[in-house]
Amino acid sequence: MPYRELTPETKLAAVREVWGRGGRVAVVARKYGVSRVSLYRWTALAEGTMREALAEGPGPRRQADLSRLEEENAALRRYLVRLAVQARAAGVQVEPPGEEWEPPPAACPRCGSRKMWRDGFYAAKGGRRQRYECSSCHLVVYQGGSTRADGW
Ligand SMILES: [Zn+2]
Repeated sequence: MPYRELTPETKLAAVREVWGRGGRVAVVARKYGVSRVSLYRWTALAEGTMREALAEGPGPRRQADLSRLEEENAALRRYLVRLAVQARAAGVQVEPPGEEWEPPPAACPRCGSRKMWRDGFYAAKGGRRQRYECSSCHLVVYQGGSTRADGW
């Protein structure tokens, strides 16, 4: 049997035929003019690569890292909002890094509480906007000042 180097595409085609013929390696080896040993090796390689590719999920270690980063991220966001609020209270104009970072309303329009928590986003013309909730009376205030009671 003369030696010939097959392209990766041809090797893969041969492997597919082995899988399709339920392991009839001898038949496929003859058709492609390669040794059964080579065909066994390619098949094992393809299976190993496929198994690795199919292994799902980030794994427990990586998941723990992600959770920790998410917590740190949330803590930093809260810290930045506190800083922005303090800066504004001190009369310092702060440029928010983005729409998401706009500090909460200075005070609740209903009860006057100065604790307004970020409460997710809502869809609005021109993009999503921040929603806040008063920590005292739980009034929901939308970025720009309208409240849920306004009939939003
Ligand atoms: Zn309130």
